[in-house]
Amino acid sequence: MGSMTSPAPRTDAPTGTPDAPEARASARDLVKVYGSGTTAVRALDGVDVDFARGRLTAIMGPSGSGKSTLMHCLAGLDSPTSGSVVIDGQEISRLSQRRLTALRRTRVGFVFQAYNLVPTLTAAENITLPLDIARAPVDRAWFDEVVDSVGLRDRLHHRPSELSGGQQQRVACARALVSRPSIVFADEPTGNLDSRSAGEVLAFLRRSVDELGQTVVMVTHDPRAASYAHRVVFLADGRLAGELHDPTQQDILDALALAADDDGQPAGSAAPGPAAPDVPAAPVGRHAAPVDPA
Ligand code: ADP
Repeated sequence: MGSMTSPAPRTDAPTGTPDAPEARASARDLVKVYGSGTTAVRALDGVDVDFARGRLTAIMGPSGSGKSTLMHCLAGLDSPTSGSVVIDGQEISRLSQRRLTALRRTRVGFVFQAYNLVPTLTAAENITLPLDIARAPVDRAWFDEVVDSVGLRDRLHHRPSELSGGQQQRVACARALVSRPSIVFADEPTGNLDSRSAGEVLAFLRRSVDELGQTVVMVTHDPRAASYAHRVVFLADGRLAGELHDPTQQDILDALALAADDDGQPAGSAAPGPAAPDVPAAPVGRHAAPVDPA
């Protein structure tokens, strides 16, 4: 564990603390063990983290470091072995399955690597599907705002097979946002996209935070994707290993290289090649703010 990868002091104070951004999701001493006995895997090993409202946070770390497990536990898709998860002020481990499902439906938006669109429905129908299933009304003004922000106005009546990968993922993003969730979890949202489409999706996710007031937590192994975030938290071996604020792609690459050096392991999946030149630029005006070493 290296200098950057020191345990991260909390920068976002707990929900309700004066003068601090409200946390939309929090984990406390989160532990997840898969299996038992000699084959047990401690995927999360005591994670404390807060995800502030109105921020795009990226979760990074080498393959197997616990990123997906953390996201699944935070989103109520998997149950932790111990510790607590609070979403939108609610401790979710105490909720019944029925209430948890209801919370996921109404308060949480999801974007996955695979777009998971219904092929027989148009883009517009896919976007409103979660609301239609919940028999909730569609706020047309908000629908229009989301559709315009994601740049899908002229594609609304197309089916997924008539859309590019990037457009399909933007439909999936709009679907995640249309119910005005408290928090959106995106799991490798650009994993299937070429660099230009990835840039469009990432720019939209950032815009959804800056202009539409969303809160987004994104798992990614791609430093360029993470450079769109306000904050990047790093996991290693199921623990929080550090964080950066408003990092550039180079800041993230440096942090990953440092972590790999210190662990004596190659950076592996966490260090792809340089960004393609046709990539829309990440938001500008960034500066690195690594955590203080403990
Ligand atoms: P990441 O998303 O960073 O690649 P994961 O959260 O998927 O990491 O996995 C963390 C660790 O937990 C890995 O060692 C992985 O093999 C293990 N793991 C994840 N899911 C399961 C599962 N369902 N059963 C057993 N082990 C699992």
